[in-house]
Parts: sequence; C-alpha cells; structure tokens
Amino acid sequence: MATVAVHNDAPDVMTRGQAVVMPTYARVPIELVDGVGCRVTDATGREYLDFTSGIAVSTLGHRHPVVVEALHRAAEGLLHVSNLYWTAPMVRLAERLTAAAGMDAAFFCNSGTEAVEAALKLARRACPGRGVFVTFEGSFHGRTLGALSVTAQPKYQQPFAPLVPEVRVLPVEDVDALAAVDGSVAAVIVEPIQGEGGVRPVHHEFLAAVRSRCDEVGALLVFDEVQTGVGRTGSLYAYQQLGVTPDVVTTAKGLAGGLPIGAVLARGVAATALGPGDHGSTFGGGPAVTSVACAVLEEVLRPGFLESVRDTGRRLRAGLDALAAHHHGVAAARGLGLIQGLVLDGLAASDVVAGCRERGMLVLSAGADVVRLLPPLIVGQSEVDDALAILDRVLGAP
Ligand code: PLP
Repeated sequence: MATVAVHNDAPDVMTRGQAVVMPTYARVPIELVDGVGCRVTDATGREYLDFTSGIAVSTLGHRHPVVVEALHRAAEGLLHVSNLYWTAPMVRLAERLTAAAGMDAAFFCNSGTEAVEAALKLARRACPGRGVFVTFEGSFHGRTLGALSVTAQPKYQQPFAPLVPEVRVLPVEDVDALAAVDGSVAAVIVEPIQGEGGVRPVHHEFLAAVRSRCDEVGALLVFDEVQTGVGRTGSLYAYQQLGVTPDVVTTAKGLAGGLPIGAVLARGVAATALGPGDHGSTFGGGPAVTSVACAVLEEVLRPGFLESVRDTGRRLRAGLDALAAHHHGVAAARGLGLIQGLVLDGLAASDVVAGCRERGMLVLSAGADVVRLLPPLIVGQSEVDDALAILDRVLGAP
C-alpha cells in the first residue's frame, strides 16, 4: 500500500468539513485516504479491515486491477456523451445485464434512489389509471420524495411530509394483508432482504405470495435489489436463488464497483412502458461509468466468482452463528451470502461498531440492534476469520 502523508500543519479535514459540509451524516472522526483489497487506511496511517464496502458499493474491494484498468481506459476516451446519442459501453452493459438477470431492457441512472424513482414512474406508465404503490414496514428505498414515499420508516418520512399520496404500507410476511393489493395498485415494491431495515430476509414463500397476488390483480412486482444485487447474496440478483421473478428490478450501489450508477431492469410489458420523453437523466449510462460497470460485471460473472461468494458467505455465517451461540449479547445471525447481520440482545449496535473500529475493523449498523457486515465480494477466508476474531473480542468486552 502507498505511504500515507499525515498533514498536521493545517486544520484537519473533519474540522474544515464541519464548517462547510451540511451535517446530513453522523460521520465518524476518521478521514480515509487509501485502500487496497479489503483494507482501507486513514490519514494517520492506521489500517482497517473493511467489512462495509462503502455501503455495499466496492464490489471488488479497493484498487482492484480490473476496475483500475477499465477506468484508465475509459478516461482516455469520451467521458460523457449525451443520451441523445448511442455509445457502445452503455449498450454492452444493457445487453450483458439484462441477459444475466433474465430481463428484457434497462434504463440507466446514477443512484439507487433514482432507480426507484424510475421504477415508480415506469409502473404508473405501465398501469394507466392506477395510482397506488404498495410497500412494506421497515423498508428503505431511498431519499428523494418518490422513493421516500415508499420507504415505510417514520423517522425518514415524517419531517418531509406531505409525500406522494396513495402509498399502502403492509406488514412483511403477512399473506392475509396482501388483500390490500387490489386493482388500484400499479406496483408492489419489496426488498428481498431488507438491508437498512435490519438485514431481514423475506421468506421466499411470502415473496411467492406477493408474486401471485400481483399476477391476480395485474400489478407490477418491483424488487429493490440496490443493496442485495451484483452478486452480494451469491447470485447476481437475490431473486435468482429465491425462485420468484419480479417484473422490474432496481440496482445500483455495487454495479460499477465504486462509481455512481443506477439501473432499472424490466421484462415483459414493463420493459416497453417508458417511451421518448417519459424519463431521463443527463449522466445516466455515460460511457465511462458503463465501461467500468461492464468490467465489474464480467468479473462477477466469471466462472467460480459467485461460487466463492457463496463459500465465504457460508464461512462468515457459520462464524456469526457460533458468536450468537457463545455470546449472551447476540440473539442470532441472519442474511444471505455476503450481506449478513448480527442481531444483538441488550447491546447497542453503535457500541459494537465503535468497538470494532477501535480494534481495526469497519462494520455498519442497520437500526439500533443489528450489526451489518458487507465485505467486498473478493474477501478471503482468512479475512473472514480475522473479522470474526475481532467481533468475538468486541462482544466479549463491548
Ligand atoms: N434501495 C435500497 C434497498 C437501499 O439500500 C438504498 C440505499 O441504501 C437505496 C435504495 C438508495 O440508494 P442510493 O443511496 O444510491 O440513492
């Protein structure tokens, strides 16, 4: 790893940032300056094992040669082309992504929340005369007003009311409640694993019931795979191992391995619902970011890659199950592949996250009592063992 310069002669970045950057995040007092593989380094030269990948973004870890090379090559060509023209990287990404996901067409944007916005607009177009969206308690779909309106968590919504009307919130796993999905519903949006909501996998029987209900009433089923997509669960998209296929998928975060991108993938009538002028994005599908996304996707789809995600995911999960068995402060582990949560019992997730950081590892919380682990998909077995050893020590003396 490159030597890191420490600048003690100027006000540090945190102090300067607090003066001029809006305080929308509760940032921890660390300035990250470098990273390679599954490790990042702060401005003092301290190294951390990265079990966050940003937040499920750095699919191939940091400075992966495939990403570095794709970015260098992209920088030597056109960085930006307006969506009034065609570019080969955008078309190649759409071809590769739709084929691998079993979808028919893609729309490109720049983030998860934008992908959700596009999916909601697409649903209104595909189901004329229907205004209602159905979402589930504990969901998270993004921060823009449309995406926020289907994010059924009062702490995010209340300060920003009024939101988009006609959103119905149902309890997860309650098949009877699906009676509320009727002929006025344009789309049902669901995360196959609620990420921000606490790494809560939704049972595939319930997802199948949602699929049947949508088919009965003619509503679109949207899976929000912004956090679970791009190989994180051990298949390219989680639905590919759950046996329930949505009409529309939202994807973002890890798709370009660290550059901003979002996409909506759709099949059947949903794939042809949006026409010229219906939706757009200045930067969406630009040649540089889609070139890098193509390279990331090739790597994730390389024979053996997803198998290795499943293997390391199983190793991580077995270790987390063992921690749950040995520590009173841990109730259970849950998740799939390399999105795993440790459900705490009587401990605060923020304390465990801080304890891990003090011992040289970055992890995330998901709500007050879940520690969320999202390592880069290239994480090795010994790094998984290191992470489990750190968690063991922190849980023993939080
Ligand atoms: N949908 C899900 C499931 C997410 O987890 C997130 C972000 O955490 C979003 C949407 C919003 O994505 P972004 O922050 O890229 O707008």
